[in-house]
Amino acid sequence: MPDLLHYPHGEDAPAPGQALQVAPGVYWLKMPLPFALNHINLWLLEEGEGWCAVDAGYDTDLTRAHWQMLFDGAMAGRPLTRLVATHYHPDHIGLAGWLTERFGASFHISLGEYLLARAVWHDLPGFDVAAFNGHFARHGLPADKLAQFTERGNTYHWGVKQLPPSFNRLLAGQTLALGGSDWQTIVGHGHSPEHMVLWSADKGVLISGDMLLPKISTNVGAWAADPDGDALGQFLASLDRFLPLPDDTLVLPSHGRPFRGIAARVAALKAHHEERLAVLLAAMDGPRTAVDLLPVLFGRMFDLYQTMFALAECIAHLNYLWHRGAVVREQGADGVYRFHRS
Ligand SMILES: [Zn+2]
Repeated sequence: MPDLLHYPHGEDAPAPGQALQVAPGVYWLKMPLPFALNHINLWLLEEGEGWCAVDAGYDTDLTRAHWQMLFDGAMAGRPLTRLVATHYHPDHIGLAGWLTERFGASFHISLGEYLLARAVWHDLPGFDVAAFNGHFARHGLPADKLAQFTERGNTYHWGVKQLPPSFNRLLAGQTLALGGSDWQTIVGHGHSPEHMVLWSADKGVLISGDMLLPKISTNVGAWAADPDGDALGQFLASLDRFLPLPDDTLVLPSHGRPFRGIAARVAALKAHHEERLAVLLAAMDGPRTAVDLLPVLFGRMFDLYQTMFALAECIAHLNYLWHRGAVVREQGADGVYRFHRS
């Protein structure tokens, strides 16, 4: 598919521990991730005597070292006064506790994301590995894979050593004064419960988090605590909220390069999911579990870490079809759900 997006910074990207200005008072930071997805973008907004950061990075010694380079260099000795987290995922919130404690900075996040971070961090019932495995077992994941998840335990702690003890609640449709400009919050669903996106009409900038990425499609998953949820329907409906924004808006995504072309990207994502749904439906000529359909949806197999996201995404696609009456779901005597075309 031709790439209809425009990347105004070309191949430029900030070096480790450096900041690259992408709009007046808005700076791009690129932090390492210890995964196949090897980086996350964070954003620094200049405000008066200090800085506001959007997202914090995954907690590793390397990310802390890169932040230290920023404190000593690009941040010019000015403190971090506020930290906004788009959502609870560890690559976004991992160092939020460390950064806010170090500077006495205030922490801003939606209620849904803060509580989910707490629930997962503290292994609350419904959010722990047992619940996670129960959900995946009902969708056909075999016992040997489930045992590997049990053995691995809570991986959220790997990248989130501490959470800020309190927060300032972000609401949808709020106007925040950050860095001398007004930023409007736009809430997104499907990737995480109450993902916040920030839009500044003055600057012509959208900080999109994981809701709008230029190259990869956002992971959309049905997880254990909301197993029958229509995450994909919610995600697709959320994308429509970006369509009224001017098409020359500079989108600052959490992964990949800043880009212009919101309408083209939203259209491509919708087409991608429609095509995947059609492929799934075509494969359901008899009862199939989500695990049976994984290679149909993705055309390849996965390692353990990727299986978790891929299976949650496959279930979200099946739930989408089920909610709309396109497929029937039946639970066998073995407790496993199987789907077939209605
Ligand atoms: Zn995410």
